[in-house]
Amino acid sequence: MLVTLKEILKIAEEKDYGVGAFNTPNLECLTAVLQSAEKYKVPVIIAHAELHESVQPLSVIGPVMIQKAKEAKVPVCVHLDHGEHLDYLEQALELGFTSIMYDGSSLSYEENVANTKQAVAMAKKKSASVEAEIGVLGGRETAGTASVDPESMYTDPALAEKFVKETGIDALACSFGTAHGIYKTIPKLDFPRIAKIKELVKIPLVMHGGSGCSENDYIQAISNGVRKINYYSYMSREGVFAVKDMLGKQEVTFFHDLAAAAQQAMQKDVERAMKIFYGL
Ligand SMILES: [Zn+2]
Repeated sequence: MLVTLKEILKIAEEKDYGVGAFNTPNLECLTAVLQSAEKYKVPVIIAHAELHESVQPLSVIGPVMIQKAKEAKVPVCVHLDHGEHLDYLEQALELGFTSIMYDGSSLSYEENVANTKQAVAMAKKKSASVEAEIGVLGGRETAGTASVDPESMYTDPALAEKFVKETGIDALACSFGTAHGIYKTIPKLDFPRIAKIKELVKIPLVMHGGSGCSENDYIQAISNGVRKINYYSYMSREGVFAVKDMLGKQEVTFFHDLAAAAQQAMQKDVERAMKIFYGL
């Protein structure tokens, strides 16, 4: 059942849990995530990142995601993750995506507001939802700037309040200590900061760089207002581990056997994450 981000986050608010948002740049990821959600009968967000355009073009994987979401027995939101170009977001909306994230975090505050407002107007025409970001998330956006003090990039609660009021977005991605990719050191999350942001903005918060945090981090983040948890790197890496393991143990002729092993391992990891996010 295809639903919007706003609808799925309403369920999350009512049930007081975090909904998993998983990147699905290929069929193995997509199947692993949807089978897990159906197994546990929970709503889920499947996402395509603009960064993954080279892995699988939106024009190819997008229609598959929409079709799979429609056929699913649970509510599924089809989301465009970290869209940095408005025409790319438009393409997703044309395909029937029910949610878009505009990422203007590398721009000035004023430019971020102006473009986010445009994204909100575009989404409104299609009854889709919008997530946007304020502050800078570690990892992808900070590549090459490792010397920058991470706390200086955290979301400012007062600015977040202003941003949400000015743009009219449905969900806010904020920076409070998480980072994209695989963690090199144990993340230390600033929970009082997200509690303060939630108190001021009153809309659901989004945790990026969600995979790789501890069980306690997720539980604390959810109890402080996080309702969408982006999860990908660690799940994808589980697929790699399974392939390496299989190749080390036996002679493999067919690629589909490797793909199946990766899918199974990713599903196991998604299920583990879901048990924490949804309190199962
Ligand atoms: Zn992200």
